[in-house]
Amino acid sequence: MTKVHCEGCGEDAPSYEITHYGSMDGVYRQLCSCCFSAEVAKVSGIDNFDNTRLQPIRINDCAGESHQFHFVSRLLGNMVTLDAFEVQDGDRAGYQFQIIGDPEEDIFAMLGCMVEKIRKALSVKHIKNAGDGHGLQIADMTVRGRIECDLSEDIRMPCVVVDGQEISWKDFGRMISSFEGWQFKLEILDRSEEC
Ligand SMILES: [Zn+2]
Repeated sequence: MTKVHCEGCGEDAPSYEITHYGSMDGVYRQLCSCCFSAEVAKVSGIDNFDNTRLQPIRINDCAGESHQFHFVSRLLGNMVTLDAFEVQDGDRAGYQFQIIGDPEEDIFAMLGCMVEKIRKALSVKHIKNAGDGHGLQIADMTVRGRIECDLSEDIRMPCVVVDGQEISWKDFGRMISSFEGWQFKLEILDRSEEC
């Protein structure tokens, strides 16, 4: 796993926790999420921000497969973001979720909402393995997922992450081609919105 030295506390933090924080005097520092939030709290005059570091939690999906979620909270002035994500090779991968809260809010109350959100998402599978040599197929009539950039492609192409699984644009195209002649509705939502 790639570790980055936090210029705040001096600890080595995983790269997904690091933010390049630019202060008023134009100096940029690499800060872990706790040091980042502490800096923002100082600048925003918030003195009661709960900067508890949340430990990873394992949650099972509806197929009985266990997923480990890491949590990062960041204070952004008048709001707090709580991110939950899986990690693969030291980077965020698979399922990812975000909720937005109030700086006054209890971090464990936010964590409770997050766990509920994760459980709800993991209780449904949108794709299935047809098992007849046709590979992955859309299980029902709705697909929920996340748009990502496919770094393996030379030209800028998206890929999608459905059920915490990365699917190339080409494979996704093949999956929807079984609905030829049908209509579809594409709605793009902010990462913290209910999908
Ligand atoms: Zn730090």
